[in-house]
Amino acid sequence: MTAPLALPPRVRLANLPTPLERLDRLGDRLGVELYVKRDDLTGAELSGNKVRKLEFLLADAEAAGADTLITCGGEQSNHCRATALAGVRRGFASRLLLRTADPSAPPPTEGNILLDRLAGADIRWISPADYARRAEVMAGEAERLRAAGRSPYVIPEGGSNPLGAWGYIAACAELADQLAGLDDRPTTIVYACGSGGTGAGLVLGVRMTGLDRRGVRVAGVNVCDDRDYFVRTIGAICAGVRERWPEAPAIGPGDVDIVDGYVGAGYARSRPAELELLRDVARAEGLVLDPVYTGKAMFGLASELARDRRRFGDRVVFLHTGGIFGLFPKAEQLAPLL
Ligand SMILES: *Cc1c(COP(=O)(O)O)cnc(C)c1O
Repeated sequence: MTAPLALPPRVRLANLPTPLERLDRLGDRLGVELYVKRDDLTGAELSGNKVRKLEFLLADAEAAGADTLITCGGEQSNHCRATALAGVRRGFASRLLLRTADPSAPPPTEGNILLDRLAGADIRWISPADYARRAEVMAGEAERLRAAGRSPYVIPEGGSNPLGAWGYIAACAELADQLAGLDDRPTTIVYACGSGGTGAGLVLGVRMTGLDRRGVRVAGVNVCDDRDYFVRTIGAICAGVRERWPEAPAIGPGDVDIVDGYVGAGYARSRPAELELLRDVARAEGLVLDPVYTGKAMFGLASELARDRRRFGDRVVFLHTGGIFGLFPKAEQLAPLL
């Protein structure tokens, strides 16, 4: 067992611990000992990595006496869906700022949007130009709510701030227990990186739990932006954690491994080869990935291993961060491959 971490206050939302499963068929095909950490099983409607961050963020929102959560994301945001549903459970209203190409012609009510609406979230469609200044737009929404006598709590994109990062610091403690029975061969936790909070938590968590001394490293496959952006973003979140919790380790740019080159056709856009792999994984292992994050991360993992079998050491722990509802809006693009 690892020494218990002193965690900030949290509310319970996720079904934990999530299973760690060995995938022999896919592992043989990729040439590594492969495990999957099933964070897609943190819940059904409340599934995925965002639930872990929200445990800490909503505890803070409650402590602040808030009544309304404000957050933002892409139109099929898993984070916004998880926030809306978790919010209902804890008694918050939610206002979601969702990015869409043309706010006057919003996308159909399907996938995550359907769940946002079921949860009664107040959706505001915003243009990519407004999304680029999302912090300002959310601050404006908060101001308006305050003027109307409400008490808003702003959660940044993806729940990726120093407090949200504790979700994956805590997940590392869980993983350390699950890996305790295995030997110390070089192991890499591979994850999909979208706003940096999961990456920041993992990078800090492997250090804070001593997993690094057992040969465990972390590598993120970015699904948007680029390597420099995420080295900076993850570095800033880690610095923020250390500022508020000085016992956290110092993280330098050299500690952040981002596997760039797999954004492909762009954020939330799929290439046929990515969807073919997603299909093949479903057929080999009964494991369903999502097209926006985990499908791209798996495509990155497979492509890197095809080039260099030793890129991630002997053992890979693939973090399944969820996102299944993003699959349904891709039905038409998937159909010809099935
Ligand atoms: C948000 C998300 C990610 C990325 O996590 P970040 O902490 O935003 O980098 C990965 N996978 C899924 C399914 C997600 O919804």
